Amino acid sequence: MESLEQLKKLILSLAPIPAPSLQEDKRADFCLKWLHDNGVKDAYVDEAKNVICPFGNDEGEQVVVCAHIDTVFPDLEPYDMREEDGKLYCPGIGDNTANAAILMFCAKTLSDSGKELKHGGLKLVLNSGEEGFGNLKGCRAIVDRYKERIHEFIAFDLSYPNIITTPIGSKRFHLNVQCKGGHSFYRFGNENAIATLSSLICRLYDQTLPEGEIATFNVGKIEGGTSVNTIAEQAEAFYEIRAIRNNVLEMLHNNLTRIIEEYKELGHKVEAELLAMRPCGSDISDAHETLFFRVEELIRSHTGQEPCRNCGSTDCNYPASLSIPAVCIGLIRGYNPHTRNEYIELNSLEASYRLAMAVLNHYFEN
Ligand SMILES: [Zn+2]
Repeated sequence: MESLEQLKKLILSLAPIPAPSLQEDKRADFCLKWLHDNGVKDAYVDEAKNVICPFGNDEGEQVVVCAHIDTVFPDLEPYDMREEDGKLYCPGIGDNTANAAILMFCAKTLSDSGKELKHGGLKLVLNSGEEGFGNLKGCRAIVDRYKERIHEFIAFDLSYPNIITTPIGSKRFHLNVQCKGGHSFYRFGNENAIATLSSLICRLYDQTLPEGEIATFNVGKIEGGTSVNTIAEQAEAFYEIRAIRNNVLEMLHNNLTRIIEEYKELGHKVEAELLAMRPCGSDISDAHETLFFRVEELIRSHTGQEPCRNCGSTDCNYPASLSIPAVCIGLIRGYNPHTRNEYIELNSLEASYRLAMAVLNHYFEN
């Protein structure tokens, strides 16, 4: 299929462009230019660095379909990419470059077709800020613009046949300890920020999770100190909590607050700053189920695989927290996300593209 070659070419052009969360400018510029060059003349970039392809009108009911363009990697230089045995290796390729490229290609196909929407408007969005400390920046901006007028929200992210129907809420914190420190020999006995932070982390790891609940916590990175012969003046860590239910997420947050308060009462200078949060979902309604069933049916017929409902943390968290029916669909066969050994299987692209088009065609007149 000629168009598959074009899609592959697009993926090869997009994949190496670095796009750490909140620094997506280069990718957003590329996407906008590609869309304009390929007939999607109405595409524009909003203040949150979302590249938006609007279909239909801006009033009335809206459907939002997005694919994030940021990656977890901090690189500002182009990523290394290589093709080997039908696999395309590149950091961020499956999460989420390939999904974003497919969405761009669908925008071109739909724009070329001149088809009319059944009603309202459809926004295809290449969005910013999904990973790390992006705090769902792009998704929040587009959802806040249309809010209750959004009838369905779909995110293309990760791999098929999985769909994410249950959002996992999360909060991410920066923990910081400061003290006087000093010379390791002459000031021995002074408080050591690394030792204080370590004991605080041990306290966090002693907490017990409520039985029968899906909830996790993690210290993902620590830094601090000056040298081997210095009592550390400062130490810091990143801490994350996740839960499916809001009250459990709040309980984990309260545990952190309580431990920090205890340390403060003992005279330690400790702070926990909330850096990012993803809300938990709300109750599942019939409208949610209708969307899930429709998507599952399309995955079955286009990939031949049995879809699997999962919980996960994606752009869907935000609309789902506002009771908007939302689902995250993986379009490609990708492996090792969030590692530098990430790859996709190129022979999955045909099914990927057909699946994406089937999902979108639902909103258009035949
Ligand atoms: Zn992703």
